[in-house]
Amino acid sequence: MQPKRINKWLAWGAVSLTALGIGAAVKSFLPPRLNVAVLPRGNAGVETLSKGANLPDVEVSILRCGSVTWPEWTMVRGSLSFKPRRIAYSAVLIRHPRGNFLYDTGLCGDIYDHLKGQSFYFRRTLARFTLEQSLLGALHEQGVKPEDLDFALLSHLHWDHVSGVPDIVGLPLRVNRVEYDAAKQGIIPLHKGLVWRLMEGSPLSCFDLDGPEYEGFRSSLDLFGDGSIVLVPLPGHTPGNTGMFVNRANGARLFFVGDAAHVAENYLHPTTPHPIFWNGVTCDKATALQTLLELHHFSRLHPEVPLIAMHDASMQEASMRVENERLARA
Ligand SMILES: [Zn+2]
Repeated sequence: MQPKRINKWLAWGAVSLTALGIGAAVKSFLPPRLNVAVLPRGNAGVETLSKGANLPDVEVSILRCGSVTWPEWTMVRGSLSFKPRRIAYSAVLIRHPRGNFLYDTGLCGDIYDHLKGQSFYFRRTLARFTLEQSLLGALHEQGVKPEDLDFALLSHLHWDHVSGVPDIVGLPLRVNRVEYDAAKQGIIPLHKGLVWRLMEGSPLSCFDLDGPEYEGFRSSLDLFGDGSIVLVPLPGHTPGNTGMFVNRANGARLFFVGDAAHVAENYLHPTTPHPIFWNGVTCDKATALQTLLELHHFSRLHPEVPLIAMHDASMQEASMRVENERLARA
């Protein structure tokens, strides 16, 4: 073939590849096409819970330990906005008559030391945050000592959800068996053993979400047997990501969703975060989308229940404002 013709083909090839690249980049900013008309399985829409009559008082405090800002387009696929969105690293302190526990653990005081062995890329991207206060400091502010806690329940085994454990070392940890097995099999990124090292010295036990279907979610675990703390599976982000309903006599019903969503728009639209972020943090995208649809339907059926994602600083702040106003009135 003559050099002129080769050059022509090469030029066409380059133009085609560039066009494909631009097409893929443009498509990545479009919201995913989800069929929101399809209702999830089961009894969604049917009240499965008695309204507060026999429920105990439960105090809920969201302990924010750190944060980072990301432009909105990274967290909301379909958004072209560069508006800064604050991403929180938090624990939730639950004070229940039968025990005090944490849902996720925020960040320990020496978290930066724990991250030292990680790659530069990881530390500059997913592990880039500002430590605002340690879990221990946040507990102290609440007048709670580690020995006042009975256990910590982990929504899932990503490093940033177990990063407060070194501050409460020795406290029993509880995790969904599906999640534990997936971590053991290497399905969940453990960052050179970081996840296990953070949990070193704390006894870990597994629970099974083998109770009945609950609010349209496929199974459940009624943690204290009184209907107040009900765990449900929200898989996809990780295989055993676990959501937690708080049902109580003294305040609003709440639904913590782990990392099944990152900001409220994810379940409200619904839309995922941008693939540039979402692809890197999601174990099973098809399952994660299904879970997002389930959350979307639940939020449509129960607009009165705040769904609180563990990185959604805005929802967490709004929720704590309501809690503090309620406590001030009491
Ligand atoms: Zn996660």
